[in-house]
Amino acid sequence: MISVIGAGPSGCYAAYLLAKTGKPVQIFEEHKEIGHPIQCTGLVTSSIKDIIDLKQDIIINEIDKVRIFSKHEELELKLKNKNLIIDRKKFDNYLADLAVSKGVKIFLNYKFIDKKNNLLKLKYNNEKETIVKTDHLIGADGPLSKVAGSINPKKETKLMTGIQAVVKLKNENHIEFYPSIGTFAWIVPENKEICRIGVASYKNPREEFQKFLKTKNIEQKDITDTQGGLIPIYNPRLKTDKNNTYLLGDAAAQVKATTGGGIIQGLKAAQAMTKSIIEGKDYEKEWRRSIHKDLLLHLRMRKIMDRFKDKDWDLLIRLFKKPKTKSIIENFDRDYPSKFMVKLALTEPRLIYFSRFLL
Ligand SMILES: Cc1cc2nc3c(=O)[nH]c(=O)nc-3n(C[C@H](O)[C@H](O)[C@H](O)COP(=O)(O)OP(=O)(O)OC[C@H]3O[C@@H](n4cnc5c(N)ncnc54)[C@H](O)[C@@H]3O)c2cc1C
Repeated sequence: MISVIGAGPSGCYAAYLLAKTGKPVQIFEEHKEIGHPIQCTGLVTSSIKDIIDLKQDIIINEIDKVRIFSKHEELELKLKNKNLIIDRKKFDNYLADLAVSKGVKIFLNYKFIDKKNNLLKLKYNNEKETIVKTDHLIGADGPLSKVAGSINPKKETKLMTGIQAVVKLKNENHIEFYPSIGTFAWIVPENKEICRIGVASYKNPREEFQKFLKTKNIEQKDITDTQGGLIPIYNPRLKTDKNNTYLLGDAAAQVKATTGGGIIQGLKAAQAMTKSIIEGKDYEKEWRRSIHKDLLLHLRMRKIMDRFKDKDWDLLIRLFKKPKTKSIIENFDRDYPSKFMVKLALTEPRLIYFSRFLL
């Protein structure tokens, strides 16, 4: 038996892939409902379609215009490939249904407590303790993963906090990105009248978020929903595999440190995990082969950006505005920066200036 903790996208997709090969799989999810509460903007590149077919009603908007703002500069991009805005609740439920269609049993309202040898301790409804036997344990239990704690006793994952509101805000269907507000901030339209607006920050996220809303003249009456959650920063030293216990998705901090996006990386790691369990391969090696290089680049960029002052953002945007660099950025896929970074550095050698922030 394979037990998955967490019915988020990473856990459900891994369960589906494993069950498809005939393995018995069960998922334990602490909430009573899948996809609730939402803690995500749902912005993904269209490369998600290379991984999984999305039902059309999951995609609520498609956008090819992005505006990036520093204090004094603005860059407008027309992306070659549209970004998709997905309905996270529908997306998570779609993946859960796929898993169930292959025979996966999902147990809702079951919280993982700990594992001793091959026995899992769970709590039903936060009260009744249950012991379950398992051969493999997959921790897809998000940024505060309890399973991760059993593999890495010292908590090693650095976290950002993301706060987001769904607001009434007329817009021209472009994504806005503010890399110098909080750790970064965003406005992502659901449609021409409604946006998801948020801030991610290491420090004082609530304060940063309120300040950002104020700059956009958003008042309490414009807000229809508020959401928040933690975003783990990629840590290449985190151990993700020990004694038939594996970590996946946010639980393994498989998240882009520049944007906080982790949906695609969790799905790709689920593919690597399935391959490793089915073919008896090393999971760490498999997922690292698939996503480590790009996650490491995002982490390096994050380390550089964390030391930026306003004048550095202004300079970067001015360099990105040059037609040749702009064209590379418009054509790139941010999930795979390794494919364009060298080209970018060769086209605009002045970008090397920023590498001093790594020292
Ligand atoms: C504000 C915000 C905005 C974001 N925007 C984007 C975005 O636009 N695009 C993008 O790609 N990513 C985004 N992310 C990141 C994205 O949400 C995550 O990378 C993604 O959800 C990871 O999926 P997962 O399945 O690994 O973990 P999760 O989605 O966190 O799922 C983990 C599941 O495990 C369950 N669980 C936790 N502990 C236990 C336990 N002890 N027992 C049982 N169940 C448990 C949880 O209830 C949850 O259902 C955002 C994150 C935040 C916070």
